[in-house]
Amino acid sequence: MQRIGVLGGTFDPIHYGHLAIAAEVHWALGLTTVYLVPAAHQPLKDTQPRASAQQRLEMVRRACADNAALVASDIELHRPPPSYTVDTLTDLRQQLGVQAELWFILGADALNSLPRWHRIGDLLHVARLVAVKRPGTAPDREALEQTVPGLRDRLVLLEGPNLEISSSLLRERIAAGRPVRYQLPDSVLAYIQQQQLYGSSAATSE
Ligand code: ATP
Ligand code: MG
Repeated sequence: MQRIGVLGGTFDPIHYGHLAIAAEVHWALGLTTVYLVPAAHQPLKDTQPRASAQQRLEMVRRACADNAALVASDIELHRPPPSYTVDTLTDLRQQLGVQAELWFILGADALNSLPRWHRIGDLLHVARLVAVKRPGTAPDREALEQTVPGLRDRLVLLEGPNLEISSSLLRERIAAGRPVRYQLPDSVLAYIQQQQLYGSSAATSE
């Protein structure tokens, strides 16, 4: 049986926190493949990604290149906006068939916004959720289960590697000229420098 994981995100840029939770869930749930899905620009949101959708996809591609279990997916970049997770998972469910297990992977910080997600009830029918703990966030499972009907049987919470890395901090560090090496793959860092993303200069070596 196919067991598929989907890790959605802005990936602005992708880092080892993302890759480590993908690896953890892959191992813990015995997944066949984990798709990493960069989100399109959201026209109605006031904070937009700094890198373009194509640049974020390229960074995700580079980050997944050395692991056959991790696959970069452009599924959200082909649909007209706004891009909702429930639509992505419904598309995937149609491609995979009813037999496949489908898991949406998220960090515990993202879990707290679950009650506000578009058509969360439908999402929980199409896929199960696996939330991985993240430093600085304490998910309140009890409270969430009371606010989101159907969540109780569809959510697995994992401890995870607890890496304290975030894209926003990496962007800040890059802009300030501080080193970010060892927090994201070298191939991603090389691309950031080549494209001069986040205020980096090609001269920055690490
Ligand atoms: P930003 O700081 O810009 O919000 P981010 O590091 O949170 O970036 P996202 O692209 O927003 O990265 O995250 C995509 C998904 O990965 C989310 O579900 C988020 O909770 C999860 N995630 C990101 N970093 C970590 C981490 N270090 N540990 C656990 N989960 C993480
Ligand atoms: Mg985030």
